[in-house]
Amino acid sequence: MESLLSLLEDSEDAPGRKRTYVDVILPLPLEKLYTYSVPLHLIPLVKPGVRVEVHLASQGLYSGIIKRVHQDEKEIKTKPILSVLDESAIISEKQFRLWDWIAEYYCCYLGEVMQAALPAGLKLSGESKLKINEDFPEEHLELEAANLNQKEIRILELMFKYRELSLEDLQKLLNQKSVQQLLKPLIERGILLLSEELEERYKPKKIAMLRFAEPYSPADSDSMKKAFELAGRSNRQMELLLAAIQILREKSEISRKELCEKASADSTVLKKLQEKGIFEFYEKEISRIDTNKSISSGNFQLSQEQQDTFEAINKSFETKNTVLLHGVTGSGKTQVFVELMEQCIREGKQVLYLLPEIALTAQIVGRLQKHFSDRIQVYHSKFNRNERVEIWKSVQNSANIILGARSALFLPFKNLGLIIVDEEHDSSYKQQDPSPRYHARDAAIFLASLFNAKTLLGTATPSLESMRNVQEGKYGFASMTKRYGEIALPQILIVDAAEEHRQKRMKSHFTQQLLDAISETIAAGEQVILFQNRRGYAPIYQCSDCGWTAECSDCDVSMTYHKLSNSLHCHYCANRQVMPKKCPTCNSVDIKIKGFGTEKIEDDLKIYFPEMNVMRMDWDSVKGRDGVDRIIHSFETGETELLVGTQMISKGLDFDNVGLVGVLSADQLLHFPDFRASERTYQLITQVAGRAGRKKKQGKVIVQAHNLKHPVLMEILEQNFENYLSRELKERNDFQYPPFKRLIHIQLRHKKSNILEDAAIFVANRLKAGLGDRVLGPAVPGISRIRSYYLMDFLIKMGLHSVGLNEAKKLIRNIQQELKSVKNLSGTRMVIDVDPY
Ligand code: ADP
Ligand code: ZN
Ligand code: ZN
Repeated sequence: MESLLSLLEDSEDAPGRKRTYVDVILPLPLEKLYTYSVPLHLIPLVKPGVRVEVHLASQGLYSGIIKRVHQDEKEIKTKPILSVLDESAIISEKQFRLWDWIAEYYCCYLGEVMQAALPAGLKLSGESKLKINEDFPEEHLELEAANLNQKEIRILELMFKYRELSLEDLQKLLNQKSVQQLLKPLIERGILLLSEELEERYKPKKIAMLRFAEPYSPADSDSMKKAFELAGRSNRQMELLLAAIQILREKSEISRKELCEKASADSTVLKKLQEKGIFEFYEKEISRIDTNKSISSGNFQLSQEQQDTFEAINKSFETKNTVLLHGVTGSGKTQVFVELMEQCIREGKQVLYLLPEIALTAQIVGRLQKHFSDRIQVYHSKFNRNERVEIWKSVQNSANIILGARSALFLPFKNLGLIIVDEEHDSSYKQQDPSPRYHARDAAIFLASLFNAKTLLGTATPSLESMRNVQEGKYGFASMTKRYGEIALPQILIVDAAEEHRQKRMKSHFTQQLLDAISETIAAGEQVILFQNRRGYAPIYQCSDCGWTAECSDCDVSMTYHKLSNSLHCHYCANRQVMPKKCPTCNSVDIKIKGFGTEKIEDDLKIYFPEMNVMRMDWDSVKGRDGVDRIIHSFETGETELLVGTQMISKGLDFDNVGLVGVLSADQLLHFPDFRASERTYQLITQVAGRAGRKKKQGKVIVQAHNLKHPVLMEILEQNFENYLSRELKERNDFQYPPFKRLIHIQLRHKKSNILEDAAIFVANRLKAGLGDRVLGPAVPGISRIRSYYLMDFLIKMGLHSVGLNEAKKLIRNIQQELKSVKNLSGTRMVIDVDPY
């Protein structure tokens, strides 16, 4: 058969016969698609959207996606594709249109979009590593072996011999041009694994629990008497038993750790009581996503305002494709979304529900999962490759509702009817690095247009871009002004920290007002959230004698002191450094920290509230042993009384019992050197404030600030969105910023500052020749070096017309290409960011 086929291949050039070619997207930053020829026997299998295996000079084997099949004659000799990996297209026409739009709008390569769009399991390369799946049951393996062909058995033999092989190694060992096709069934059946998969593999999370063993029960006093007799003369066992009885009267089980903490006992005492048959130990699986909140399965009765809003949105959808829902925190937007989603899937269409970050919004995920159960699928980066590929397939076939962060946009939807962009203002919708630097909200609106679907943007703090679109009549608008259950919005107080300083009344970073409010709140049995938008212990480590500060060797920033690890960390790269005991320039030992981060707040709280249960939620703590879920869970159950956190705590958390929210330093947010600083401040403070008093009664918010005069603080204080909006829009207009202008940010990067300067001159000349005074820069950014690359910035301000914008983008991309070929400058990286955030 093989030889027959190769004979046929040879006759491809028979006169009158046109060769078939495919243009292939490869997951690499390549300027153009690569064209390959199609061997005769593969011609029936090639079509757009199907993956093929190809060989790329110097890069090895890759799987790429066919974008176009054609018979255009090529002058240069093209290489053939090696195999076809799919029977039917995995990328649809509509998905390609989204990819094209992103590549064009955000000035990036299709290969980069492919890289972002496809789950890793669908894009193998020669470097992908394979391993034997150690968990694959042996008896199944024997069964499977009967179904394997010679080549597959040979692959397994090799795998068992070497344990781990890259695709390229395998290819060589098998002496085979193409291996992906052969491997596919083995991977799909779970016999082989891509090695990253092993590390990512989903492990259920378990905690060690304890309960009374039969026949002991706190309800049965005879049995308890017996237990005390057994505990005998040991005081520690008696005390523990007493504590356990008290706690387990109310609930039937408790984690071992919690009991030890509450009874201040250690685990050896627990163990003794277990050995005596009084306690029994077991493991309980807890879900990472579902936070076990007792929400009834969603048979909520919409309130009048929710019902009215639901109808208003539907009405607005009659004439507009996109509607913005501005609903204050706690107004019950989620329930309105649920109603709209129900309506959409009743019509047999799919819904995409976008969230800024899945891990941080586990509560919403849990609520929606409870309501929709198996009609909803969560697309989560924590899933392993197989699971993500599974979801990919199910979206093509059945799934009704997909919930995910921005990359869920790329799933192969069939008949999308509605996209909900929850917390539309959130900056995590914008991808920063790597390219494609797309904004998921804006890409969602484009995606919806491909399906004639509707988009609903929801938030308590709309972005100025979206508000402007409402004003211009591009978007419809609906609003909810009351909290669900008519609970008043929190009362906000701004405290003058500067004055408190002058009066020497500050207690570390707390004003007396904040400390008093914390005590009162805890005494009333309620919880507290404190917000400080800086992690670590202290951002500056400085010599008091000569002014030396610890700086990162690769970045132009000071190192942050982290107490837990007792070291200095750079927040821009991975550099860490031990604490110098003496000043490296003057040998002084008088080195002091300046400023404060969440770690220090957590620490200082111990001075004033030694008894309080405090937890911290920031990048460092969620990476560590606790994880987001445990932190949220512990706050939800009331175990944690006070939660300190960075902006992570502002994202849609819904707790019942928060009486007080404290913002430690509003100024820090305002002084950010960015035209969005006051918009961000408004959003962040309003959002964290919104965590207070959601269920039972009005909550309280204390904002500490040094500069009370800033208008945005007043607007936050008065919760006056209208004033904030008109003032902020006027300023943006006066200074020619979005939403009145479009920005394109260009950054040049090079390790040598002199080369960078030359590159900047080259780019500046070319840009200014085409765009004149719309070009600002080159300018050295506030942080002039990151990861040992020197940086240089340009900002281009364009009008809103798409023609001019497209011209500008074309010019910029040309310059990017040219730069690659200028002698000496070719190593300069040029990063383009359209609509920077
Ligand atoms: P938002 O997202 O607007 O901040 P949520 O949707 O989280 O507000 O709703 C706030 C709280 O009110 C939630 O705890 C939710 O369970 C509750 N809630 C909202 N709508 C209803 C309803 N129709 N019936 C019962 N409880 C509701
Ligand atoms: Zn010094
Ligand atoms: Zn650094």
